[in-house]
Amino acid sequence: MRRVYLDNNATTPVAPEVFEAMRPYWLEDYGNASSIHWYGQRAKAAVEEAREQVARLINARAQEIVFTSGGTESDNAALVGVVEATSAAGHRAPHVVISAVEHHAVLHTARALAQRGVRVTTVPADARGRVDPADVARVLRPETVLISVMYANNELGTIQPLEEIGRLARERGVLFHSDAVQAVGKIPVDVERLGVDLLSLSAHKLYGPKGVGALYVRKGTALRPLLHGGHSERDRRPGTENVPGIVGFGKAAELAWAALPDEAVRIASLRDHFERELLCRVPGVAANGDREHRLPNTSNLAFEGVEGEEFAIAADLRGIACSTGAACSSGSVTPSHVLIAIGKTEDQARSSLRFSLGRFTTSEDIDYALEVLPEVVGQLRGVGYAAAS
Ligand code: PLP
Repeated sequence: MRRVYLDNNATTPVAPEVFEAMRPYWLEDYGNASSIHWYGQRAKAAVEEAREQVARLINARAQEIVFTSGGTESDNAALVGVVEATSAAGHRAPHVVISAVEHHAVLHTARALAQRGVRVTTVPADARGRVDPADVARVLRPETVLISVMYANNELGTIQPLEEIGRLARERGVLFHSDAVQAVGKIPVDVERLGVDLLSLSAHKLYGPKGVGALYVRKGTALRPLLHGGHSERDRRPGTENVPGIVGFGKAAELAWAALPDEAVRIASLRDHFERELLCRVPGVAANGDREHRLPNTSNLAFEGVEGEEFAIAADLRGIACSTGAACSSGSVTPSHVLIAIGKTEDQARSSLRFSLGRFTTSEDIDYALEVLPEVVGQLRGVGYAAAS
């Protein structure tokens, strides 16, 4: 049976070039990047090259990149790090602003901070998943120390007006963090243009290995480290560096940099064809999210009268991998907080599926999906279904 992977927002395969770049750092150049001998220096040089490659992808300076264990750690490090640094500087009741459509890595970190007495305000998103910068402006207070708004949403693909929020943050003297885990590698990301002080990245969303990521920290930003230990990453993130992972991340960043923007155009045209055809072939389907401000690879569709989990299982049995809501919440019965935040009913949220294309998606894959998915929907709806619209 043919297998088609349409879940690239959950994770991507490691690119063959990335795998090859990592190989020597498992087998031969296995030194600890902190060691002074030849082995250590080989590892250190490789880490520093990767730092340059990752920095180039987001128009940052190499010294502003801190390697972490992934997007979740980067988000935690940004939120907790800013709050702790400002508390240490005398702010007794710091205030943090986040959006309602953040990934759990931000949402639950903010919740944990709230339990420690930090004031947290959650700004809403509109029906298409966009945050209004005016809503952010309205909730800022003298005690606000951080605004955290993601660049692109993992479920909808909706892209936020970061430049406007960045300008606002600068005018009001508030630090600005963005979880750009889903944006980096898919659309151009430029920390100068966006006006961010902190930005989270994750290698496994851009054909790099799992368990490695980075936090961009603008020079001069006060940040308390999340972890305590040795002196690696210039005292910003202790722990022996994951050298093969970091090397793979660097290579993945280099490949993404070279592929953008042509790759984005190719994927968007495949995605648009997929969406147009599915909407045309299957009655009672609606697209969720913003069609204009959207990642090129993501399509989130509500199938009236279909239960999302059942759909995902039935599609998988026919070889098609897609996702209900965030991958991280698959298996849980609660509907996606993102779809609820944009005003969908629980039924609409439960009937929604995310299809996310990637570098290795071909037009044959899409043809196969377009052949199989209408059959899957028909089978799940059974006889007697009549679309309400
Ligand atoms: N932020 C967003 C928007 C994500 O989509 C994800 C992963 O799904 C994460 C953070 C977490 O990244 P990681 O899996 O590297 O911890």
